[in-house]
Amino acid sequence: MAATSTTAPQDLLPVLIAGAGPTGLMLACELARRGIAFRQIETSPAAQVGSRAKGLQPRSLEMFDNLGIVERVLEHGWLAIPMHSKTADGQVIYGGAIPDSLSRRPDIPYPASLVTPQWRTEEALRLRLRELGGTVEFGTALASFEQSEDRVTAVVVKDGVSETIQARWLVGCDGGHSVVRKQAQIAFEGEIREDVRMIIADLKVDGLDRECWHMWRHEEGSAFLCPLPSTDIFQYQASLSLGQNAETTLENLQAIFERRSGRTDIRLHDMEWSTVWRANIRLAERYRVGRAFIAGDAAHIHSPAGGQGMNTGMQDAANLGWKLAAVEKGASSALLDTYEAERRPIGAGVLSFSNARLEQSRVEGGVNVQRDESTLQLHINYRNSSLSRDDRSEDARMRAGDRAPDVTRLVTPGGERRLFDLLRGGRFTLLNFGPRLAAPIDAAPFDLRTLNVVEQPRHSDEIAEPDGQLSRQFGAGDRTLLLIRPDGYVAVISDAGDASAITSYFASIS
Ligand SMILES: Cc1cc2nc3c(=O)[nH]c(=O)nc-3n(C[C@H](O)[C@H](O)[C@H](O)COP(=O)(O)OP(=O)(O)OC[C@H]3O[C@@H](n4cnc5c(N)ncnc54)[C@H](O)[C@@H]3O)c2cc1C
Repeated sequence: MAATSTTAPQDLLPVLIAGAGPTGLMLACELARRGIAFRQIETSPAAQVGSRAKGLQPRSLEMFDNLGIVERVLEHGWLAIPMHSKTADGQVIYGGAIPDSLSRRPDIPYPASLVTPQWRTEEALRLRLRELGGTVEFGTALASFEQSEDRVTAVVVKDGVSETIQARWLVGCDGGHSVVRKQAQIAFEGEIREDVRMIIADLKVDGLDRECWHMWRHEEGSAFLCPLPSTDIFQYQASLSLGQNAETTLENLQAIFERRSGRTDIRLHDMEWSTVWRANIRLAERYRVGRAFIAGDAAHIHSPAGGQGMNTGMQDAANLGWKLAAVEKGASSALLDTYEAERRPIGAGVLSFSNARLEQSRVEGGVNVQRDESTLQLHINYRNSSLSRDDRSEDARMRAGDRAPDVTRLVTPGGERRLFDLLRGGRFTLLNFGPRLAAPIDAAPFDLRTLNVVEQPRHSDEIAEPDGQLSRQFGAGDRTLLLIRPDGYVAVISDAGDASAITSYFASIS
């Protein structure tokens, strides 16, 4: 099946990434920051334009915090943008405020989604990738691949010239039409909904303020104009009913807008990008075949209702990234099976959720302008994963598999820090609430940092919690050991009073 080659397995390229959208870029950053070599190829000749997914969910912002790019992303976005939804009879429903249940919470640093154009998100990831020494090979397409027991042999094409790349792993972050998914013969079950279509465009608008996301509901359909922060552009969105003119000309967009908003004083002009989106709702049957993986839109596509797609793809990448890196450094390859086991149920859940949101918006003729916790992706957990171990009561509020929350006030010898500051960098972190361990834990090939919770921190591996926030958030007692994964989920919670749960955890995945 595979092409014959004399390259020894250990000399192969570790990872080939097809696609440099948000998912592929996130994966590339995860590998680059762990020193794993890869090549990232991208069909497009240059970075993609278009605002597309303009909603970054809090969980994605937390991942960006861990990657060291959240400030850059926040700078170009608008957290908790106000939303004004106007009905045909002139009523305005105001929304977008952060509910009391989410505001000023020490465990949630980013309590709402951030509006920023997708190209800005990709730009921030590309910049980080460059800082980490990685590059995207634009204008280079994956044409086909074969795999054998020890390698993937891929044919890529640039400027009409083919090149064969041999790699140990191939990851298809190549979007909804994924070549990797098709060649791996992974079924992509689902449906196209011809009755759910939308025009989306980036354009300039005269006669409208940029103080909120404007929405108009009309019996014909909805029309939205959302100011895109860090630009002078709005994102235009208008639903299309069956048979309605779907031309993406300025004249058609203006006519649809005027009918639905009743505003003839607003002028649309200088359109920079446009598309007609139609609902294609599908989930891949598998996320892995042998040495080939798929992630992001290659594995799940659905409606943008609820703003989950891009975020879910980047979280796929964060999940796969540390595992691939660990296996490349010598961990058991069985660790890679947990990628599909953990992420496919999340993908299935996102499909159901966005379908429900889509139906709701069709019935109500607009979008839900009230913020709640359902879209933030902070509730995602891996409690049922084989990578989650817990010897405490099942009634405990915090269980292994849960997202590790932030804690705002921790004292270190270097000054006050948030827990998320200490978790930054993408390694395992052991929080030890009990006495110092008699011997260091052998976590090789993983990167493990231990933080001992003490009264007076004097050493770099010691922290204090003056107001007990850390113990409260994690429900920790004076013998608790709590291991946090590189992607920010709790791996192990043990009240056994010794390090056996932690050592056996690493032994089982090494
Ligand atoms: C109009 C619109 C609005 C949306 N709104 C939201 C939203 O509000 N929130 C949200 O979370 N999501 C939203 N989405 C979805 C979001 O844009 C996607 O989920 C996201 O782009 C997926 O990222 P990805 O990296 O997995 O795939 P893509 O962004 O599709 O990237 C795949 C990349 O792979 C490249 N590629 C393809 N084939 C090959 C090949 N053979 N070789 C090499 N490279 C290849 C492509 O050129 C592309 O750059 C929206 C999408 C659209 C279209």
